[in-house]
Amino acid sequence: AAAPVSGDKRVLLAAPRGYCAGVDRAVVAVEKALEHHGAPVYVRKEIVHNRHVVDTLTERGVVFVEELDEIPEGALTVFSAHGVSPAVVQDAERRSLRTIDATCPLVTKVHREAVRFAKQDKQILLIGHEGHEEVEGTYGEAPEHTTVINDVAEARAVQVADPDNLIWLSQTTLSVDETLEIVAVLRERFPNLQDPPSDDICYATSNRQAAIKSISPECDLVIIVGSANSSNSVRLKEVAAEYGASRAERVDFASQVDESWFEGVSTVGLSSGASVPEVLIQDVLALLAEYGYGQVDEVVTAEEDIMFSLPKELRAELKRVG
Ligand code: SF4
Repeated sequence: AAAPVSGDKRVLLAAPRGYCAGVDRAVVAVEKALEHHGAPVYVRKEIVHNRHVVDTLTERGVVFVEELDEIPEGALTVFSAHGVSPAVVQDAERRSLRTIDATCPLVTKVHREAVRFAKQDKQILLIGHEGHEEVEGTYGEAPEHTTVINDVAEARAVQVADPDNLIWLSQTTLSVDETLEIVAVLRERFPNLQDPPSDDICYATSNRQAAIKSISPECDLVIIVGSANSSNSVRLKEVAAEYGASRAERVDFASQVDESWFEGVSTVGLSSGASVPEVLIQDVLALLAEYGYGQVDEVVTAEEDIMFSLPKELRAELKRVG
C-alpha cells in the first residue's frame, strides 16, 4: 500500500479509557496517607499495576514490598486495589501494622460472594489467572471450596465433587468474550452450574473492552497504554487484535512507541487500561501529532460516573484530624 498522505491520518481515541473508580480511590488513598503521616508509607504489592504510578509514588516516599515481613512492626501499610486474602490480614494484625485497605469495592464484592457460597458448601469455579494478586486474594477466602480455571482447556478438564452444587465466580479484569466461552464450556459439562448474583467482571473492564471493540475494525494500528502486568490493559490489546485491528501494541510510555509501526497506517486507535493516568495518553497523542496524526476523534461508547469513597480507616482518620 502507498504511504498515507498526512490528510488521511487520524487517531480514534477510545472512551471510556484509563482510570477507573477503584484505581482512583487506591491512588488517592496512598497520597492522603502520605500527606497525613509523611513518608514512609508501605504498600503491599503494587498499589495498581502501572509503572508510572508506582515510580511516581516511590519518589514521594512510598515503599512497595512483596510481603508484609519486609515492613517494620507497627508501620503504616496499605493493601493494594487487587485485594488480599484473610491470611494476609491476619499476618498484618500479628505484626501490629496500621493498615489501610485500598481493595476495590468491586473486588471486595467477589470476596463476599466467595465467603457466602463457601458457607453454603458449594464448590466455586473461579475463572481467572492463577498467580494474579486478585485471584490469590479471592481464592484465599475459601481455598477448600475454590478451583481456579485459567482457560477453556481447564474448563474442559476440571473435575468436580458434585456437578449440582457448583457456582462460578471470576476475576474482575478478564476478557468478557473469553469468560463467556469458558462459562459455556462449563455449562455444557455441568448444566446446573449456578451464575454469580451479579457480574464479577467490573463495569470499567467491560466498558473499556466495548470501546476498543467499536474502533478496532477501522484501525490499522491500535496502541494500548498500560503495563505488562496489568490484566485489563493486556486484554485490551488482545481484544483490539481479535476485532480487526491490523496491528495491536501495548506500551508503558510514549517513548516505547516504535516509528516502524506506522508504515502504511492511516488510522491509529488509542486507549489505556484502568490503571493508567491520562497524562500518559496525552504523551502518546503529542507523539502521534509529531508523526502527522494530529486529527483526533474521540469515540465515546459509554459514560461513567461511578466514584467510591475513600477506605474507611482513612475517612475516620481524616475526620479526626479535621
Ligand atoms: Fe475496581 Fe474494576 Fe478498577 Fe479493578 S478495574 S479497580 S475491579 S473498578
